[in-house]
Amino acid sequence: MCKKNDTGIVLFATKQRFYPFKQCLIYVCLRRSMKTHTFRSKPELIAILVIAFFCFMAANCHGPSVKTADVKGQSNAEASTTDGARIAKSPEAPMPSLDGIKVADPKTILARPEVPILCYHQIRDWKPTDSKSARDYIIPPASFNEQIKMLADSGYHTILPDQLYAYLNEGAKLPSKPVMLTFDDTDEDQYTVAKPTMDKYGYKGVFFVMTVSIGRPRYMTKEQIKDLSDKGHVIASHTWDHHNVKKYQGNDWVTQIEKPTKLLESITGKQIKYFAYPFGLWNHEAIPELKKRGMIAAFQLYSKRDEQDPLYTIRRIIVPAMKPAALSKSMHEAFKYN
Ligand SMILES: [Zn+2]
Repeated sequence: MCKKNDTGIVLFATKQRFYPFKQCLIYVCLRRSMKTHTFRSKPELIAILVIAFFCFMAANCHGPSVKTADVKGQSNAEASTTDGARIAKSPEAPMPSLDGIKVADPKTILARPEVPILCYHQIRDWKPTDSKSARDYIIPPASFNEQIKMLADSGYHTILPDQLYAYLNEGAKLPSKPVMLTFDDTDEDQYTVAKPTMDKYGYKGVFFVMTVSIGRPRYMTKEQIKDLSDKGHVIASHTWDHHNVKKYQGNDWVTQIEKPTKLLESITGKQIKYFAYPFGLWNHEAIPELKKRGMIAAFQLYSKRDEQDPLYTIRRIIVPAMKPAALSKSMHEAFKYN
C-alpha cells in the first residue's frame, strides 16, 4: 500500500495534488452512507467502518516526503536530483548542422569572444609515486566534482565542437555562459569518474583519444568509447601514440592521423572532425596536413592563436586540482570574458 517509488520529483508532486481530492471523496461517501443507511446488524456497521479505515490509510500514504514547494522556483527544464545536484537546462541553442557553413575570415574568428575550454587528463587520487609535475595532469575525483559543481552552480552550459565551429564561423547563438570540457589521452577514469559526474549536471564533453591505448589496462575500451559517443559526447582524434606533430615525416601522417581517424570512425559510426595536438604543440606545416585529412578544427593548449588559421589553434587550459574559486578566476583571466 505504501509502496515507495523513486522515479522522481515530478511524479510525486503530481500524486500529491491528487490526494486531497481522494480524501474528500472518501469522507463524503462515508457521511452519505451513514445518513442514508439504517444498519440492520452490528457486523454490517463494523464492516463499513473497517473499509473506511483502510481507505483513509491508503489516502494518507504519501511515499517519500518531497514537497511540491521543492519543485517550485525551478523552470520546466530544470530539476533537482535526489542528492540535490542540479540538472542543467536543456541547451538554449540547438546543435547546429554544419552543412553549408562557410569558414569565416581569420579576423572575424579572432574577434569573437573566446569560449573557455578546459582540458583534463587523469581523474584519480594522487599516489606517493606521482611526481609534482605529473600531478598537474592528475586531478583527484573530489576536486573534479567540486569544479564541475561550481560550473553548474554558476550557470555554465557545456557546448560541443560543432556548436563552437558554427559560432566562430557564423556567429551562431551559444547557450548562456558556454564552456567546453575536454579530456585527453584515453584514461579509463574519464569514463568511470568524469562521465558520471557530468551526467549529474546534464553536461557533455569532448574526448581526444590516443588510439594506441584503447583496451589497455587503465585506458578506455572500444565499448566505453562507443558508449560515450552514443550518449552524446564527442569523440575526437589525439593521434595514434602521442607523437609530437612537429616531428612528423613521410608516412607519419598516415600512422598518426589517417589510421586512428578510421579506427575511431569504425568504433563510433560517426565522422571524426576534430583534433588535439599532443602536448599542445603545433606548427604551420601541420595545419594543411590536418585539413587534407578531414579535420575542420584543432585544439592546442595555451599559446597564441595563429593569425591565419585560428580554427586550427583553438586554445584550452589544463586544469589541475584547484579550488573552484581559483578555477573561475583562471577561466576569466585566460579567456578574457565577463
Ligand atoms: Zn595528450
